[in-house]
Amino acid sequence: MKTTALLILFSFSTVGLCQTDQRIYDIIDAVSAEHIEADVSRLVQFGTRHTLSDTISQTRGIGAARRWIKAEFEKISAACNACLDVSYQKNLVKKGDNDRIFKDVEIVNVLAVKLGTKYPNRYILMSGDIDSRVSDINNVTSDSPGANDNASGMAGTLEAARVLSKYDFENSIIFIGLSGEEQGLYGGKGLAAHAKEKGWKIIGILNNDMIGNIKGVDGIISNTDFRIFSEPVSPTETEQQRNARRFYGGEVDGISRQLARYVHKTTQTYMPEMNPMMIYRLDRFGRGGHHRPFNDTGFAGIRIMEAHENYTQQHQDIRTEDGIEYGDKLEHVNFHYAKKLTAVNAINLAAIAWAPPAPETVMIGGIVEPAAKLQWSKVDGAAGYKIYWRDTTSPTWDHSRYVGDISEYTLDGVVIDNFFFGVAAVEENGFESVVVFPNGIIR
Ligand SMILES: [Zn+2]
Repeated sequence: MKTTALLILFSFSTVGLCQTDQRIYDIIDAVSAEHIEADVSRLVQFGTRHTLSDTISQTRGIGAARRWIKAEFEKISAACNACLDVSYQKNLVKKGDNDRIFKDVEIVNVLAVKLGTKYPNRYILMSGDIDSRVSDINNVTSDSPGANDNASGMAGTLEAARVLSKYDFENSIIFIGLSGEEQGLYGGKGLAAHAKEKGWKIIGILNNDMIGNIKGVDGIISNTDFRIFSEPVSPTETEQQRNARRFYGGEVDGISRQLARYVHKTTQTYMPEMNPMMIYRLDRFGRGGHHRPFNDTGFAGIRIMEAHENYTQQHQDIRTEDGIEYGDKLEHVNFHYAKKLTAVNAINLAAIAWAPPAPETVMIGGIVEPAAKLQWSKVDGAAGYKIYWRDTTSPTWDHSRYVGDISEYTLDGVVIDNFFFGVAAVEENGFESVVVFPNGIIR
């Protein structure tokens, strides 16, 4: 039965029809909970990783922690013929920049770049955070294990680098340890500005912040639920773009939301046992994360995190009060769950890095016609294009049609008013770009 179906598929065309790719399953299997456990344990051993903590000690403080992270990336690189370019990226923040910066401090991020073979200047990013905190945000000496917040995200990023370093990709991937998160998202701000200045084409950032807790403060325990936060539209949109949305739509179709849909879809395809929850907001209510400075700079960025948080284990001095054990300690991290969320990242990095660039312009038309028309700019390296559409109330791209290597198509019988549309570029290998929502009108 299966063989027949495959034969029929291949008799139509050889392009864009691979439903799944074995390499993606191999990547999922290769992610190791033991590695993540070892790395979270190691990060906890630095005592505190507060952004303004000691940088001289070899055993304690953020200096020792970032040197260890850099050395780990270098070890991974040594095992793949120097396939990673490992470096620090630094910004000096002056005392008093906000009340969490009580002395001048060098904010130091650690970067490991796996250069793409075909589109080296296009980057998909994965990040975790180096820094940790306790109850008093300016306490730089007390034990601050930050096991879940955010050694889990940092360890996941290291493990994704280990697994993906075994492959070559067409687009570049950067694995990142960001610093200064708790003091005001300083590492992300610095790196986003650096990327813009260098002219890097950022496809997007998958920011991981707390990927190891499965027991919620609400009593819910789940090792399959997780959240994908994305803001609806880019904060950098122009007045003109905002006005156009009133007439043509796009209120829930910004670039970060398309990246969130991509991650949701890849997860459902390859890890159907997981429950990805798309959350239609930038971040948790009134709280922040390191994807935001990338969004502020005009780049797509999402936050991947656990679904059920435990607030007694975040940003807390280690203590017992009224029988409750406070503190972000190692024993609260579920490494098998962190492994799954790391796999979610790794397969999305791979899928995007194996895909062609998305079309730059997508035009749509079809006012008072019984058909929707789409036109797009062709992409160097794409084997073909796929048109997506969905009901206006649906969160996901539910309908699609692969239309081959052309640059315009009319969907007969599909009334433009009743759906939202988008176009993705498809690689020979079947991998697809993120969907592009129309950014122009055919008159
Ligand atoms: Zn935090």
